[in-house]
Amino acid sequence: MLVQLAVEQSVSESIQQLVCCMGQPVAGNPTQFMMERAFAAAGVDWRYLTLEVPPENLASAVQGIRAMGFCGGNFTIPHKMAVIEHLDGLSEAAELMGAVNCVTRVGEQLIGENTDGKGFVQSLRGLTEPAEKRVVVLGAGGAARAIAVELGLSKVAEITIVNRTAERGQELVNLLIDRVDVAAKLVTWEGDFEVEAETDIIINATSIGLGNPEARVPLDYTTLSPGKVVADVVFNPPETVFLREASRRGCQTLDGLGMLVNQGIIGFKIWTGVDPDPIVMREALEEYLEL
Ligand code: NDP
Repeated sequence: MLVQLAVEQSVSESIQQLVCCMGQPVAGNPTQFMMERAFAAAGVDWRYLTLEVPPENLASAVQGIRAMGFCGGNFTIPHKMAVIEHLDGLSEAAELMGAVNCVTRVGEQLIGENTDGKGFVQSLRGLTEPAEKRVVVLGAGGAARAIAVELGLSKVAEITIVNRTAERGQELVNLLIDRVDVAAKLVTWEGDFEVEAETDIIINATSIGLGNPEARVPLDYTTLSPGKVVADVVFNPPETVFLREASRRGCQTLDGLGMLVNQGIIGFKIWTGVDPDPIVMREALEEYLEL
């Protein structure tokens, strides 16, 4: 009896807490490498699994993590919007954005959060306080939406959305004005965008530059001047033409790795309750991406 009890105890103590990343295609996603390094450094006995899940299996995959008692996970392309109908609740930001990239289990419920924008804003705060700043966001896709909503919630003075597809850009502008209560306007992107002198922060939230160190964001770089903060969401490669040109003109720059690390820090804290080591996470990312 005593032996059996001891065996049962050691089995339950040895069961690790689980989180995951679901996406498709998800091979090459660096988050597992970063998280598992951070778990080890923080001395928490957790595992992070990367799971290739096609859209038609999303419902059963979420059912699966419920059944197996996962503590939550990250959801990436193409599941950020689709996962919502399988969850029990959303944070304010996730509800506004209509997208979830981080799920946490609270009791028996799975709650959706969006940490992309929060990760960006936290990384931005390392350079400047966003409140009262005039911001240009290039793009109106998932990353732009998350960043613009979070900047609106951080009380920036005005957001200019610059997007190639006017309908998508206008939809984001309407969301910012109607639901986030921030001044916003749309510029339909044609040719090189000219940055106004009073702009404080310019963010490339498009996928231009992803996997291509020579790709050029169409911008009149002579309109950038010292004092402006220029940020890129692209993290691979982290040194983009956009940031190189901005840096040459004396702007302060912020690469996409900072956003990735910071959204990882937020997820880690939400799941484990522990603060991870940001340096361990950044170094793990750089090692994984062979930088
Ligand atoms: P989406 O596909 O949702 O949006 C892409 C955006 O880029 C759209 O606004 C699109 O414009 C614009 N775009 C793409 N190509 C061009 C082009 N040639 N000229 C002008 N505009 C263009 O992608 P996401 O928002 O999900 O991702 C965008 C980037 O953000 C990716 O590189 C991704 O890796 C990165 N990312 C980084 C994160 C981090 O932690 N650092 C986190 C999340 C994303 P249109 O509407 O006209 O098509």
